[in-house]
Amino acid sequence: MTALVIAEHDNASIKGATLNTVTAAAACGGDVHVLVAGHNAAAAAQAAAQIAGVAKVIHVDSEALAHGLAENVAAQVLAIASNYSHILFPATAGGKNVAPRVAAKLDVGQISDITKVDSPDTFERPIYAGNAIATVQSADTTKVITVRTTGFDAAAATGGSAAVESAAAAADNGKSSYVGSEIAKSDRPELTAAKIIVSGGRALGSSEKFNEVMTPLADKLGAAIGASRAAVDAGYAPNDLQVGQTGKIVAPHLYVACGISGAIQHLAGMKDSKVIVAINKDPEAPIFSVADFGLEADLFAAVPELINLLP
Ligand SMILES: Cc1cc2nc3c(=O)[nH]c(=O)nc-3n(C[C@H](O)[C@H](O)[C@H](O)COP(=O)(O)OP(=O)(O)OC[C@H]3O[C@@H](n4cnc5c(N)ncnc54)[C@H](O)[C@@H]3O)c2cc1C
Repeated sequence: MTALVIAEHDNASIKGATLNTVTAAAACGGDVHVLVAGHNAAAAAQAAAQIAGVAKVIHVDSEALAHGLAENVAAQVLAIASNYSHILFPATAGGKNVAPRVAAKLDVGQISDITKVDSPDTFERPIYAGNAIATVQSADTTKVITVRTTGFDAAAATGGSAAVESAAAAADNGKSSYVGSEIAKSDRPELTAAKIIVSGGRALGSSEKFNEVMTPLADKLGAAIGASRAAVDAGYAPNDLQVGQTGKIVAPHLYVACGISGAIQHLAGMKDSKVIVAINKDPEAPIFSVADFGLEADLFAAVPELINLLP
């Protein structure tokens, strides 16, 4: 029984979500191999070999894999799938783009967004926006799994010494091609990797106010900025900042929710945060039911006051 983790990487380094996925793979009970499919990605393969608990890294180098096109990565996974009992992807945008293609081609049911491994064939996953946990048993010979990264600790990025093996690249399937990418550059920590997140809701009222109030707080705390869907839909914050069921799932050490009501779809994305602070002027706001610290106040007064008090 061997599990294959599909690494998320940028050809130079391994993304953090891969480390949580390795922990989930190890819980499946057998050896853990990691596939690094990329172009000029030797450094990423070496980094994968350092991850604690990884027995082997399979490094595939091809121009067709340079940009992680889902069609080509899926073909690559399928080329080696028969060697594995479990194939695990992080439940990120990248992983969720490839996993269903692999599951469909293998004619197995995908087991999505697992938060716990009960046994090699039985997994737990949240349903109904995290209000219930389903225990799912799979009879398929190959388990194709996406892993909710906040459900598993990150494996140590160093300390391992896996062998790196080169494998032949699958042919470019020609169904898609890379045109370009527009990547927003920010000095802030990435939302899903941040230790502290400050998040703003509809109460901010405009993108100007959102920036005016939330940015200094984030600067002071060295935090990433998040937003509710209402704030995103109203154009106060960009789409990639959305936290929740249809946004990003986060579990930082500290989550500060400002003017966010705490709808279940928002809670689904942040309620596993270690410490939750809520600032809301409505004492009945549901966010207070999950908050460790609640401040019933007008955020336009409370947030600047808080910034002044912080060292
Ligand atoms: C299928 C589906 C998926 C969804 N996915 C998501 C998702 O991923 N993420 C998400 O966030 N939502 C999601 N939603 C939307 C969700 O249901 C809520 O509508 C949304 O979270 C509300 O955002 P909000 O809390 O910012 O706004 P509101 O619900 O309008 O709350 C604003 C809060 O601010 C408080 N407030 C107002 N003025 C002030 C002030 N001056 N000072 C302090 N507090 C103040 C109010 O008391 C209120 O509690 C989804 C909905 C559906 C149906």
